[in-house]
Amino acid sequence: MLRTEDVKNFAREIRVDLIGIADIERFNDIPPEHNPLSIFPETRSVIVIGRRIPRGALRGIEEGTQFANYSLYGRDWLNNRILAMSTFKVSEFLEDNGWEAVPVPNLPPEVPPSGIPVREGQPAPNVMIDIEDAAIKAGLGEIGHCGFFLTPEFGPRQRFQIILTDLRLDPDPLFNGRVCDYPSCQSFCPLNAITAAGVIDYKKCNICENGVFPNPYHSSGKPDRLGAICARSCLDYLERHNLIKNTFQNPFRKRPSWKVVSERRIEEG
Ligand code: SF4
Repeated sequence: MLRTEDVKNFAREIRVDLIGIADIERFNDIPPEHNPLSIFPETRSVIVIGRRIPRGALRGIEEGTQFANYSLYGRDWLNNRILAMSTFKVSEFLEDNGWEAVPVPNLPPEVPPSGIPVREGQPAPNVMIDIEDAAIKAGLGEIGHCGFFLTPEFGPRQRFQIILTDLRLDPDPLFNGRVCDYPSCQSFCPLNAITAAGVIDYKKCNICENGVFPNPYHSSGKPDRLGAICARSCLDYLERHNLIKNTFQNPFRKRPSWKVVSERRIEEG
C-alpha cells in the first residue's frame, strides 16, 4: 500500500520544493463551481505541489534592465514546463501504483464558466479550483498583508499546482504560525493600491508599471504581481529579518529600488 511518506519522498527526489496534503473534508464548504469533487467525485486527498521562483529570476526586474527572464523562468516556463512536469511526474507515480491522479494547473478561479451543465445538478464547465486556498488547506503557508501567498521557505517566491487523487493520504496540519510580521507593507506600493487593512485595489495593479504582468491565462484573473516592486520589497524585508528559510550570502536589494509613480515619472528610493 502506498503511504504518504512514499509520495512525499518521490516528490523530494524529483526536486519538488514544497508539498502539502489536504483531505477532501477540508473542502466541504467550497461551492460546486470551485470544488475538487465536481471534477473527480472520488477525490480523497488534494496534493499541493510547489516550485520556487529562483531569486535570480527576479534580478533583471529588480535592476530594471531585463524583464523577460522573470516572465519565462519565473512565470511561463515555471508554470507550464518546470512545475507542470513535477505535477505530471507525481501523478504518474500515483497512477503507477494504481491510484488515479488528476493534475490541475493554477488557472485563475475568477474565470467564468464557458459551457452549460451536462447533467442536472452539476456545475457548468469549467470548474476552477482556487489553488492558493488549496495550499492553505494543505498547510503550506498564509496570505500576507500584501495579498501574496507566503511560505516559511520562500516568502512570496513560488508557484503551485495540485493533484486530486482517490488515495487516502495523511493530511498535513494547517499552518498556524506567521511568516510576515510587518503591518505596514502598504508603503511598498508607489500607487497606494494596498490599504492599511490589506485590501488590494487591483484596478491600480492592472495599470502599474513596476514589474506587473497581465494574468497569463485569462483577463478575469488577477494580474501577476510576483515580479512587482511590492513583491520584491516583501521578499527583501522577509530575508533581512530572517523570516524565511531560503537565504543567501548577499541581500536581495543591493541599491535603492526604481519605481514608476505616475505618467512614467521614475523615482529611486
Ligand atoms: S502591483 Fe503595483 S499597484 Fe499593485 S500593489 Fe504592487 S506596486 Fe502597488
